[in-house]
Amino acid sequence: MNRKITLNESDIPEKWYNIVADMPNKPLPPLNPKTRQPAGPDDLSPIFPMGLIEQEVSAEQYIEIPDEVREIYKIWRPTPMYRATGLEKMLDTPAKIYYKYEGVSPSGSHKPNTAVPQAYYNMKEGVKSITTETGAGQWGTALAFACSQFDMNCEVYMVRISYDQKPYRKVMMNTFGAEVYPSPSDRTEAGRRILEKTPDTSGSLGIAISEAIERAVSDDNTKYSLGSVLNHVLLHQTIIGQESIKQLEYAGDYPDIVIAPLGGGSNFAGISFPFLKNNLTDGKNTRFIAVEPASCPKLTRGKFMYDHGDSAGYTPLLPMYTLGHNFTPAAIHAGGLRYHGASVLCSQLLKDDLIEAVALQQLECFEAGVMFAKAEGIISAPEATHAVAQVIREANKAKEEGTEKTILFNLCGHGFVDMSAYEDYFAGKLSDHEIAEERLTENIKEIEELQPE
Ligand SMILES: *Cc1c(COP(=O)(O)O)cnc(C)c1O
Repeated sequence: MNRKITLNESDIPEKWYNIVADMPNKPLPPLNPKTRQPAGPDDLSPIFPMGLIEQEVSAEQYIEIPDEVREIYKIWRPTPMYRATGLEKMLDTPAKIYYKYEGVSPSGSHKPNTAVPQAYYNMKEGVKSITTETGAGQWGTALAFACSQFDMNCEVYMVRISYDQKPYRKVMMNTFGAEVYPSPSDRTEAGRRILEKTPDTSGSLGIAISEAIERAVSDDNTKYSLGSVLNHVLLHQTIIGQESIKQLEYAGDYPDIVIAPLGGGSNFAGISFPFLKNNLTDGKNTRFIAVEPASCPKLTRGKFMYDHGDSAGYTPLLPMYTLGHNFTPAAIHAGGLRYHGASVLCSQLLKDDLIEAVALQQLECFEAGVMFAKAEGIISAPEATHAVAQVIREANKAKEEGTEKTILFNLCGHGFVDMSAYEDYFAGKLSDHEIAEERLTENIKEIEELQPE
């Protein structure tokens, strides 16, 4: 039995898979925040290039990957899949556990899968500079790398708490040539407004998005780029699942359960959607579990409503599970999971019971991450430990029930730049977080007035 299942560069998918084509209930349209009417391409063109807007609204089942993009994908793709024999042994489980490892990319996570095509379509349309936000720094690093491949400028607004906790992420972005500012900053109207009200704020992805959009709108040669949530981002990530199907075929296996952490939904969608296609069109019966942190529980405790993607309310209104765009989660180390909403596609699929969601506390996740490091030799990003913890739960359940479940999960990034998180965990400085129901209700009340008639 092979422990590691690798593919050739010629196995890099030639198309992205668009789940919209196969969804029983199509996603509701985004709304223009002023008119509350469905937002069209014109609403998006000040911030995104047409090439990406077309993908955002496409209902085509497959979309061709440009050769230039596949050429850059070759730097790290196809990514390896592993059979987690070490973890299986440690857990003494009859379950078969596989993981797809996206940590081999230039930035150490799945994010370059979309950063590269996003930079490419901007470059094609003459854009010189891209602005963006970053939480833990994973997305900023990925976009900085992608921009460097096409000789473009990159301006990153990094959530304050991560800027302070993860200084090396900033240096990585600088190495790829990007400028990095802590958010909220005094460079934008949105940032200044928040600094005035709450000078000590730890920041949030919602605020950083507002800042990056504001900068993009104010310059003709500058566009904005988002690392998750939007349909085209989820689309680009489906190369993960397509490769996984091929790798499991070589192993003679097919998953009963697919697990991934969910911040906005892109790595979860990336590994899940190609398998979910087989549920929808081919009678397969795989379960898909999105794992979120208990401190930011939009899928399990949020409401399915129209909401903004950012704090200042610049983005179109999106129909999604949300905690309210002013929800600022506790300063957990899984920065990539500290987002108030879930992508429209994942939200609709959850609403239709085609995927599942669970919220986990961070101590269980770090414990799982440490166990996984010892068993498999890979130190997971704090976000990825959420998947590992759920895998352990499912593997233990399989043991209790005596069933030989096949579990696949996305190890979406390594934790080498997050060692301060593990340090805090070992020092006993981390705690679990309970959120009072009133706090959630208050935040939701604020967005009730945004709903269409
Ligand atoms: C960004 C990120 C996430 C969360 O974003 P998704 O869009 O939900 O994938 C999770 N893990 C890692 C390592 C990340 O960099």
